[in-house]
Amino acid sequence: MQLIALAFDAPHAIDAYLNAVSGAIRDRSDAYDEGEAIWSVVTFLVSLAVTFGLYQTGFIRGLRDRVEARLPRWAAVFPFVLVYTLVFGLITLPLDIWLSHFREVAYGNSTQTFGAWFGEYLIEFGLNLVATAIFVGLLYLVIRALKRTWWIWGAGLSAVLIAVMLLILPVFIAPLLNTYTPMEEGPLRTDILNLATAAGVPADDVYVYDRSRQTNTISANVSGILGTTRVSLGDTLLADATPAEVRAVMAHEIGHYVLNHIYEMLFAFTVLIAIGFAFANGTFAWAARTFGGKWGIGDIGDIAGMPLLFALISTFFFFATPVVNTIIRSNETEADAYGLALAREPDGFAAVSMKLGAYRKIDPGPVERFVFHDHPTGRDRVTMSMNFKAAELAAGATDLDPSQAPLVPEVERYVAEREAKRTGGGK
Ligand SMILES: [Zn+2]
Repeated sequence: MQLIALAFDAPHAIDAYLNAVSGAIRDRSDAYDEGEAIWSVVTFLVSLAVTFGLYQTGFIRGLRDRVEARLPRWAAVFPFVLVYTLVFGLITLPLDIWLSHFREVAYGNSTQTFGAWFGEYLIEFGLNLVATAIFVGLLYLVIRALKRTWWIWGAGLSAVLIAVMLLILPVFIAPLLNTYTPMEEGPLRTDILNLATAAGVPADDVYVYDRSRQTNTISANVSGILGTTRVSLGDTLLADATPAEVRAVMAHEIGHYVLNHIYEMLFAFTVLIAIGFAFANGTFAWAARTFGGKWGIGDIGDIAGMPLLFALISTFFFFATPVVNTIIRSNETEADAYGLALAREPDGFAAVSMKLGAYRKIDPGPVERFVFHDHPTGRDRVTMSMNFKAAELAAGATDLDPSQAPLVPEVERYVAEREAKRTGGGK
């Protein structure tokens, strides 16, 4: 028997995948992603402008005076935060509605009516309000007790809160918005559990949640810690991806879990938050001196300074966007490599990455990618997949087929179907 490997042409396969999403659909996906970047800048500027306006009109100062006249200082923080967050939320509501609902509908991502979307928006707003009130209440206890070093302790407090959120979010909050049902017995479920077992993930069940209630975008996750570990797939993934693609996606998600990305991110973001708090601490005195007279802001422990303090923190994070995105993106790249090695489905992963390209810019420029993209691009993923395949074949792998054509027809089928749903008036 002759052992001449059939030539696998990786560059050719990469081009074939990248060209699978083209024309008007590629333009729309580019426009969607570019819009996301532009709107993130607009949203930031609007939040600064609203904060400025609420100070200039005397609203913040008046609110502080009223709550502190009726309640002890530590307790006054809570009504202050509740009223301020509600007023701020009402002013920015039209922008939120446009961005989170109508824009998603226009691009064919959302599957919800306005009413259904707004109901969930209110639930999330309510949960956020409670979490914010608890966080700010505790933060101001820390700030008032430790005026010089609060930013270190405040970052520690944030880390604890984020950890609690990560712990309770998948177990208690996610089921409020979606229904999780055990995945039907079958070969695909067995494949997923085998991947999990091979990777040492302590999960013995797979759940499917009704993601299609909100969106037609594809997603899955492996979440939880300490006995709450669960493997979950959006029903959109099952509906829109072939079994090979599902295995590729689940292996990527298992990669996040096995590589402890959640703890790595918790650590990285705690450090960033500490730097952000230090920045806000340093600039607060200057800002309060410059504007504080008219705005009625006292020292850093004054709750009337909270909107200013948070504006400074969000300014820091706005400029740290590329840093945050690079931290996330490097984890995503690691999970991609892990997933390819675990599932050994390079064509499945390339195909599903191009399906994501129906609503994510496939091939942005290097600066745009660095600043705004928190995931590897379609080009990155297709390239990594095909290079993996080429390297494995060169090393003598027998489970990969060098003559298998790129799964372009499958990508084109998905893209055409999605486009028909978007334009056909059908949901
Ligand atoms: Zn990921």
